[in-house]
Amino acid sequence: MNKTILIEWDKKYIWHPFTQMKNWLDDEPTIFIEGRDCFLKDIDGKWYLDGVSSLWVNIHGHRRQEIDEALKSQIDKLAHSTLLGACNEPSIVLAKKIADLLTENGVPLTKIFYSDNGSTAVEIAMKIAYQYWINQGIKGKDTFVSLKEAYHGDTIGAVSVGGVELFHEVYKPLLNKSIQAPAPYCYRCELNHTYPACELGCLNEMEKIIAQNQEKVIAVIVEPLVQCAGGIIVWPEGYLKGLRELCNKYNILLIADEVATGFGRTGKMFACEHEKVSPDIICLSKGITNGYMPLAITAVNEKIFNAFIGELEEKKTFYHGHSYTGNPLACAAALANLEIFEKEKTVEKLLPKIELLKNKLLEIAQLPYVGDVRQKGMIAGVEIVKDKKNKESFPYFEQTGWKIVKSARKYGVWLRPLGDVIVIMPPLVISEENLERLLEVIKGCIIGLNY
Ligand SMILES: *Cc1c(COP(=O)(O)O)cnc(C)c1O
Repeated sequence: MNKTILIEWDKKYIWHPFTQMKNWLDDEPTIFIEGRDCFLKDIDGKWYLDGVSSLWVNIHGHRRQEIDEALKSQIDKLAHSTLLGACNEPSIVLAKKIADLLTENGVPLTKIFYSDNGSTAVEIAMKIAYQYWINQGIKGKDTFVSLKEAYHGDTIGAVSVGGVELFHEVYKPLLNKSIQAPAPYCYRCELNHTYPACELGCLNEMEKIIAQNQEKVIAVIVEPLVQCAGGIIVWPEGYLKGLRELCNKYNILLIADEVATGFGRTGKMFACEHEKVSPDIICLSKGITNGYMPLAITAVNEKIFNAFIGELEEKKTFYHGHSYTGNPLACAAALANLEIFEKEKTVEKLLPKIELLKNKLLEIAQLPYVGDVRQKGMIAGVEIVKDKKNKESFPYFEQTGWKIVKSARKYGVWLRPLGDVIVIMPPLVISEENLERLLEVIKGCIIGLNY
């Protein structure tokens, strides 16, 4: 279709997510029409390197033949049926595959509940955790503990455990009970400690909160190792392990939201593996289908699952489900995606790229206006500040992050910042050559900032 008409209709009919539509209407939007490998083509024929994996979902590149074919072959059999009172083949095979994959990687969670996006995976985790205690006759538990700067999705339950003020503040009166502990955000430590001499003071704060509220606390919910949407906040080593120990000590559940960190992004299949931690519940989504279809999983251990087993009149059933639960097309795409992980040894091959990213970030850290660089595996963030010495940020309205990202587009690099943090999260299959180019363009655009 004609570009002018598409833009006219977009502006007339679409309300874009996380977007001030007043600004959108003044801007010229980009319409993507094709993808290949780590690149996206717009309607004018210009190609962009997809530096944020189409919002953190793409792992193996666009238009992967194996996934294209798995979808085509599934479409010739069955597009959708229901998991409410019935089964379908791809969802069964995928459930076994995910349970095995988690178990092999030290996260033995073998009961798989399907949904279709990260937020609902979190909602499900929260409802299961709450009912787990109810089903055992334990009363008075009505509160979650989460972290400041946390992001778990945009539905009301997920927002209740969110801690990004800009996104979450306005909804406060609508939310469920939760208590926020300080984020392990070493660059802007609330407790004024300096890493690595911090001795995990934020973990002590966490313990105080749990100890004081033990009777009320259902679970602690966190994004293990990297709080992505909060600004690529990378945790100090030992925090996750310490958190698991606290949950054991005070007998509360640990929910790991690996919607962003799962499927290889941190350099291991799951972030929890880095500290040999197994949560009680894990939430997975973004990378699961390589960005082909909406799909999410909430996986739980046997102990939790067993608390829901009983006679009908005991009312222990988990009354939750979605129209598209276990969608066969989505599950077929996920299966093909996981086969590529095995065939290409995607995670094992990341090391030189992680090293390259690390070295380039060291260069970027030297630049004016770069306050901090943070990295875990193939996830990185560059925090831009007005004053390196006192870590003062630029005023919000200056939209400094956006200025950098917009100039990168001129050089054929597609990014999306989080405030003044430049997010680097390319597909895991990116070549070293393209990764280097991505980082060179970012570097150049930061240097090009003129104030
Ligand atoms: C993106 C994200 C979510 C929400 O997933 P949606 O599919 O966008 O609803 C939840 N948790 C984390 C950690 C995320 O990064």
